[in-house]
Amino acid sequence: MKTILKVMMMTGVLAITAGCGQKKSDFKYLLDEFADLKVMRYQIPGWDELSLQQKEYAYHLAEAAKWGRDIHWDQNCKWNLPIRHTVENILENYKGDRNSKEFQQFVVYAKRLFFANGIHHHYAEDKFFPECSQAYFKSLMEAVGDGSKCAELLPVIYDPNTLQQRRSTSTDGDIVVLSAGNFYEGVTRAEVEKYYESIEDKTDETPIAYGLNTKVTKDSKGNIVEIPWKIDGMYGPAIAKICEELKLAAACAENDIQKRALGLLVKYYETGDLRIWDEFNIEWVKDTIGTVDFINGFIEDYNDPLGRKGAWEGYVNIKDHKASERSVILSANAQWFEDNSPVDPRFKKKECKGISAKVINAVCLAGDAYPSTPIGINLPNADWIRKMYGSKSVTIANITHAYDYAAQESPTSTLDEFAWDEAEKAFYREWGSWADEIHTDLHECLGHGSGQLLPGVATTAMGEYSSALEEARADLFGLYYTADPKMVELGIMPNKDAYKAEYANYIRNGLMVQFTRVELGRPNTEAHMQNRKLIAEWCYEKGAKDNVIEKKVRDGKTYFVVNDYEKLRNLFAQLLAEIQRIKSEGDYEAGKYLIETYAVNIDPALHKEVKERYEALNLKPYGGFINPDIVPVEKDGKIVDYQVVYNDDYLKQQLDYGKKYSAL
Ligand SMILES: [Zn+2]
Repeated sequence: MKTILKVMMMTGVLAITAGCGQKKSDFKYLLDEFADLKVMRYQIPGWDELSLQQKEYAYHLAEAAKWGRDIHWDQNCKWNLPIRHTVENILENYKGDRNSKEFQQFVVYAKRLFFANGIHHHYAEDKFFPECSQAYFKSLMEAVGDGSKCAELLPVIYDPNTLQQRRSTSTDGDIVVLSAGNFYEGVTRAEVEKYYESIEDKTDETPIAYGLNTKVTKDSKGNIVEIPWKIDGMYGPAIAKICEELKLAAACAENDIQKRALGLLVKYYETGDLRIWDEFNIEWVKDTIGTVDFINGFIEDYNDPLGRKGAWEGYVNIKDHKASERSVILSANAQWFEDNSPVDPRFKKKECKGISAKVINAVCLAGDAYPSTPIGINLPNADWIRKMYGSKSVTIANITHAYDYAAQESPTSTLDEFAWDEAEKAFYREWGSWADEIHTDLHECLGHGSGQLLPGVATTAMGEYSSALEEARADLFGLYYTADPKMVELGIMPNKDAYKAEYANYIRNGLMVQFTRVELGRPNTEAHMQNRKLIAEWCYEKGAKDNVIEKKVRDGKTYFVVNDYEKLRNLFAQLLAEIQRIKSEGDYEAGKYLIETYAVNIDPALHKEVKERYEALNLKPYGGFINPDIVPVEKDGKIVDYQVVYNDDYLKQQLDYGKKYSAL
């Protein structure tokens, strides 16, 4: 399940446009860079081929997506919206000197705030701070009539000791109490866990996602209560607007399945009933024939320290018919891959079905998917729905390509810095982009959908380690098969060696390059990054006696070089088998051991070196996007078309959204 985030691996690489057929035109992809972030934009190939009805459908879905923006801001921390409002006020109305160094520092803070949908880094989840002084910030607030809010908001912005992390990763403190996210208030981890323990029906084979769409707190008598996120509950005004647009969308849907799905989604937003959410997902999975598709709801649980609460997310996309062929081949062979995987037969699915895989182009990103956005999606998240009805697995072509093109607009690359020699670089330049895309396809189309739990094992058995282990499982499945002769036979891999580009790259990234994204002195906490470190470190250690991966040092710089690709593939197979066993048996202790031994702690000296080498490249580790506008074209009082207008002003889009889609 879950989303794949675009990672450093590809950044700054090359001019390969494998499999996409798009040519780099004069369209400028890279718009803005600040702090550790870059803002890009994307094109929507295929938009002009849509019918008017399809465009109208996509338009209303996009409006519904954008109306959820404030929900996500508030979920991230309850202070985010008040802070955003004051920042908007300053950006719009400040009449003083806007060229001063301090004002520019304030603008950078504003841009970071918009990028993160709040005061915590979107990825690292630590609070970040303005570079301008608190006194200056105060003067700005006073200048635009927000002086009365200073006492309340400035400590939230500036005090390093409050609301430190959005999702706490503390190992000795209470992660519920310490998390700044707005999923829990006035309750402890033990209380929350006891509460869910008491309401969960463990015998239910089709369990609802308990707690997905609520905030947990206490009533006046001290009892634990859930406040639902629904039309007459918390976030009601935003949800009402979402429902309005979803109804308009339903009226011009492409087919009856979409209509039924949207009807159920609205009903779910009206009732908060998670059974209806499941019914919606089942219907949504069935729609594999439409061209326009969407995500709208409380989806991923990464931001919740206990892995229950869904971050609000909106996403509208259209199918890329040509590019979808490759993943169609993979999913048509899903059973072969399942049968031949290196895991214990007891943990394999007897029948692999319903994995619908396609390539899409994003039309609108919103909520948890904006501006930072995934390059692959696999939903729904409920294990039993995936098992009984299948799931939708997509890779997002126009976003991936925008990353590659934006990287080409930059003069330096991590490949040049971290790869050992010219041969390795040249090989990566030739095959890396291709192999990387195929690995992503395997991860999404087959990896997450593979394997099964033994009867009686709870889907939540892995607790706080579940996301990282699940990502590792999907990645390993993909890595193992990227090198399989079957891939060449199916016409997916161009030759039997191309996979080596991905293997070398994966190890380089997992052992080294990705640490550029972690602050010095901090542990590695994000699920996808933990997964990569776990895999790379485990293979490095287990392969040491055979020198499978060699650590080399030249001119004081560290490199990791793969010496034996076949043995590395065997190591991937062993670890895949072990992680599948852990998940299938619900072996929490073994899962915990893997993560804590291999995934968390970064060697301080190496970390420092990597950060320094990376800094010298002057690249930005995180990327995000602004959306094109979809603009109705009127003629004689009737809408005759919806045109895509490509913006190039990041702050303007943020301020426009603040004005247009402000519901909370
Ligand atoms: Zn994944």
